Amino acid sequence: MTAGGAAEIDALASAPGSVPAAVRAQPSVAELVERARGGDARAVARLISLVEDASPSLREVAERLSPHVGRAQIIGITGAPGVGKSTCTSALVKVLRLAGKRVGVLAIDPSSPFSGGALLGDRVRMQEHATDKDVYIRSMANRGHLGGLAWATPQALRVLDAAGCDVVLIETVGVGQSEVDIAGLADTTLVLLAPGMGDGIQAAKAGILEIGDVYVVNKADREGAHQVVRELRSVLSLGATPGSWRAPIVSTVAQTGEGIDDLVTAIARHREMLEVTDQLTSRRESRARDEIEAVALTYLRERFADLHGHADLDALASAVVRGSLDPYAAADRLLEAL
Ligand code: GDP
Repeated sequence: MTAGGAAEIDALASAPGSVPAAVRAQPSVAELVERARGGDARAVARLISLVEDASPSLREVAERLSPHVGRAQIIGITGAPGVGKSTCTSALVKVLRLAGKRVGVLAIDPSSPFSGGALLGDRVRMQEHATDKDVYIRSMANRGHLGGLAWATPQALRVLDAAGCDVVLIETVGVGQSEVDIAGLADTTLVLLAPGMGDGIQAAKAGILEIGDVYVVNKADREGAHQVVRELRSVLSLGATPGSWRAPIVSTVAQTGEGIDDLVTAIARHREMLEVTDQLTSRRESRARDEIEAVALTYLRERFADLHGHADLDALASAVVRGSLDPYAAADRLLEAL
């Protein structure tokens, strides 16, 4: 990649004032996949845009990526806004790069109306990796296509995986605030908490304490951090079952990098456990099931949309109103027709 590096890949893909896409010779999907595998950041960005926009070539992209996926370790990072997810992600990238890993970062921001190019402004903390050709950073926001982010995120992960990322970090705001089920997508889910967030463990109880494989108490330099660790430990011990993975609690100061090595060790231990117990495969299969279901439902929904105003559906509706058919039987007939 030329000057600019990771942080610019999105901007490059859609730079205002650049030659209109229709004028430029468009590389084929096969070419893009080959280039992405060779580490071409622009090809990676282009492929992610294709899947994000659910372009007509989506199927071909998926097909061509397929033989090259399954290598990357997927790490989810979640927590309330302000706990330090971005800072922690950046610190993790640094440590992973020192270990020679190629790293992808997907920042999911459902609240942002923008995608791609929005990255530069709001991801200031990732800037130190901006010129590193072995770091791909992409922010994704809902643009209302198909199943939105829930649809696009797994596809974007596959692009980064096929592009040779050893690790992909997906960052998103906490449970319930995002349509993306990060725990369903990641091999290892990190849940971040921090002192002084007002609601502390209380808010965390709302679902977040069920999904963590590793808990991170960030801002350990702040007053109250020990208290958060203590509370967390007692809450987690309630749900602990003998013989199963006991999610460790790691204290970090993401700003200075303190504790990040411990975090990397905790992630590696979790990964080892997944491999030894074969849960890595079962997690990934469950992820694939969700993905197949999402794709199938999306297509079904599209087919149904095509049926609106269609004579068959109208006839069924009228039969239901007349009482000659019940809605269940009508639905069966509709499904048969599809
Ligand atoms: P996010 O919204 O969860 O991504 O949080 P950010 O990474 O944007 O961090 C929110 C604020 O907390 C920023 O001002 C960071 O500089 C600050 N911050 C992050 N980590 C630490 C830390 O370990 N200690 C302290 N004191 N501040 C931190």
